Amino acid sequence: MAATLIDGRAIAQEVRAEVARGVAALTAETGAVPGLATVLVGDDPGSAVYVGMKRRACAEAGIADLHHHLPADAAAEQVAELLGALNADPACSGILLQRPLPDGLDDAALSALIESDKDVDGLTPISAGLLVQGTPGLRPCTPVGVLELLDRHQVPLEGAAAVVVGRSDLVGKPVSHLLLHPNATVTICHSRTRDLPAVCAGADVLIAAVGVPRLIGAEHVKPGAVVIDVGVNRLPEGLVGDVDFDAVREVAGLLTPVPGGVGPMTIAMLLRNTLSAARRQFSA
Ligand code: NAP
Repeated sequence: MAATLIDGRAIAQEVRAEVARGVAALTAETGAVPGLATVLVGDDPGSAVYVGMKRRACAEAGIADLHHHLPADAAAEQVAELLGALNADPACSGILLQRPLPDGLDDAALSALIESDKDVDGLTPISAGLLVQGTPGLRPCTPVGVLELLDRHQVPLEGAAAVVVGRSDLVGKPVSHLLLHPNATVTICHSRTRDLPAVCAGADVLIAAVGVPRLIGAEHVKPGAVVIDVGVNRLPEGLVGDVDFDAVREVAGLLTPVPGGVGPMTIAMLLRNTLSAARRQFSA
């Protein structure tokens, strides 16, 4: 029987509507409006599109759009100064420094300047440490979006065998920790893993975050498993994931399509992080 598909667009829309209601409630209660500062440095067309999507999503949710655009030749000191001002600005609940930064600017060093309370991307070293410890904090948007998809489909994680393919700081590592907290037994695979199909075939929940088109085939999937495809690969025929959708659909129980699976969750979770940051900020 073909897998049930997870409709990431619909779930993201539900999350966005919940955030909009949460923002309205917070404003009614405190008079304060959450604000997201998006910082775009340079003119990378892809980054400009992403920032535009994030700004529109904010406006729809009632979050103030505090956008800053610096020129491509901005000095590190100029970016640092802006981040410092936003850290101190009470109108700003969350800060998003759009990556990649132009050559010559150190992404990691500049992102690390963002106060953890405003780190709505959840990618600074402090946020990463809080995640590893399981201490409250802002979690990275795409990984927490994966967990939200599993949660909305009531996928049991307690004691489940979860296999994550990919160990990046952006997706693989954080999603592995997020699965560990609800007591999944987590295996992390990477480019040196021996016999990847055999390891993956033991998974009740398989997460692919690799960046290799259609790497995960039917032989990697236990019948009835939940398969979440984080991959976004641009091929001449269009966007494809890390999972061979047509083959895996015949074996998996629950599966995300690409596009329309994990992708839409990232912005939804950014909005939710901004609301969480604002709640903390205004109730402090
Ligand atoms: P990344 O930093 O390039 O990491 C890829 C990981 O996959 C690495 O850990 C690498 O192993 C592993 N890997 C590569 N080839 C492999 C193979 N043949 N077998 C097993 N493991 C292999 O990528 P990322 O940033 O995590 O992104 C992963 C994918 O998710 C990309 O397609 C990206 O576009 C997508 N993505 C989507 C969203 C979204 O939907 N919103 C957000 C972020 C990323 P090593 O560590 O050994 O090199």
